[in-house]
Amino acid sequence: MPTQTTQRRTLAWFRDDLRTDDHRALHAAIDRGTAGFTAIFVATRDQWRRQHWGANRIAMVEGAVHDLKRRIEDCGGHLHVFEADADLPSLMRTLVEHWSIDEIHANREFGIYEDERDRSVESAITSVNATLVLHEDQTILPVREIRSGSGTPYTVFTPFKKTWLKRLAESSVDPRPCPRILAPLTLPPPLEQAVDPEDWPLEAGVTGLFPPGEETARSRVAAFLEEGLTHYDQKRDLPAIDGTSTLSPWLACGSISPRRILRDLRDRLGDDPASWSTGPSVWLSELVWREFYRHVMDGIPRLSMDRPLHGWTDGVVWRDAPDDLEAWRTGRTGVALVDAGMRQLAETGWMHNRVRMVVATFLTKHLLIDWRLGERFFMESLVDADFCSNNGGWQWAASTGTDAAPYFRVFNPDTQRDRFDQDSVYVGRWAPDHRSALPPSPIVDLKAARIRAIEAFKTAKQHASPVT
Ligand SMILES: Cc1cc2nc3c(=O)[nH]c(=O)nc-3n(C[C@H](O)[C@H](O)[C@H](O)COP(=O)(O)OP(=O)(O)OC[C@H]3O[C@@H](n4cnc5c(N)ncnc54)[C@H](O)[C@@H]3O)c2cc1C
Repeated sequence: MPTQTTQRRTLAWFRDDLRTDDHRALHAAIDRGTAGFTAIFVATRDQWRRQHWGANRIAMVEGAVHDLKRRIEDCGGHLHVFEADADLPSLMRTLVEHWSIDEIHANREFGIYEDERDRSVESAITSVNATLVLHEDQTILPVREIRSGSGTPYTVFTPFKKTWLKRLAESSVDPRPCPRILAPLTLPPPLEQAVDPEDWPLEAGVTGLFPPGEETARSRVAAFLEEGLTHYDQKRDLPAIDGTSTLSPWLACGSISPRRILRDLRDRLGDDPASWSTGPSVWLSELVWREFYRHVMDGIPRLSMDRPLHGWTDGVVWRDAPDDLEAWRTGRTGVALVDAGMRQLAETGWMHNRVRMVVATFLTKHLLIDWRLGERFFMESLVDADFCSNNGGWQWAASTGTDAAPYFRVFNPDTQRDRFDQDSVYVGRWAPDHRSALPPSPIVDLKAARIRAIEAFKTAKQHASPVT
């Protein structure tokens, strides 16, 4: 008796994963869509606003959607683009009905609001006999499965990384290029929410510095591995030089897969990270930090809801100081490295990691302003705004999160400047007024502010109930 292959029509739904290479949902949808395949992207602008995405992040996404549309056409298919928000579940149901879709494939995102959105889409399409299939794609390893000996998620990086490396040695994580689309669906989109991304009034972002798309991401990786990787460990903390990859804007919108990056590393250095030299090993650790913050966000859902990892820090009495907050936002604090960093952010949409730690510590400790206000401002400003890494970075700096050091370790921004910008090249570039004969005066006394912060944290800890 001849075997009958099941004939299915599938849809790939793109979100924060705007590429064709090594894309698990796309590839599964193409493989399984034997009777038809198509792809969609839905611009959910209200949701973007709720997530505090600013012009830079949106411009990066819109540019990446243009690029993606061309690439899917090169593979033989078509990307339909829509605008929707509260009506997203009904849009998906209409598409399923109109195109007779059996399965929608998407990559899972981290955060409870993303989960809720997916559940409501799932329930809308189940009622018309379609299935939503979610794939683990954002990370090299499925971070949901990594657990401590007691079965709980890790909240400290070092043991997480140890387990992660062990899992890596046991796993096959090779990337896969985009397969050819053999059964493209040619039906037009049925709805008025369909838009042509060419008509988008491109947000006034800074994407000139970060040209969106897969090609740029791949060539950035190649250039960094060639020129930056070997001495990464020595250069990564010096904000005045190009000592890091600046790949974060492309990783944030999914223009490149982390498994592709790992493959490129392994092709150069061999499969076993234990045999790599310090530069590449330290860079791999940074990619593992990205995975760690996704693991923590996934394992501890309250982090999605503006809550700290350490409950007792909810008791810290933050200052309501709008003028100080504004001075920080605009780079007018009178503290050289902080002002330079905030002005680099305003001008480029990006900031060096060392300086991100310094400005975040300054806001949350020296100014004693709630970390959530800093987190939000970064989301609004960064071209690489990424909910998990940003929340993780802010909570780390504010001592409300995963930093293993106690709250009374407070970076001094002047000492940090002496260590990492000795010749004031970075400060001179972004905040030249600090190198003038009459530099601005700091809005706080660093020593007194440090003591004030430590007292505020100490008091919160003393008054906390033992379970927090
Ligand atoms: C307060 C604060 C907020 C941050 N907000 C974001 C954010 O919104 N988006 C974002 O991508 N990163 C964020 N980071 C992490 C880090 O600063 C950036 O990822 C890094 O500066 C990007 O530069 P790069 O691509 O040259 O990194 P490289 O040093 O070349 O590292 C390679 C990649 O590893 C990942 N990575 C590196 N460092 C970290 C880290 N500490 N945490 C998580 N991932 C890391 C990034 O994806 C990065 O592109 C934040 C850090 C802090 C302290």
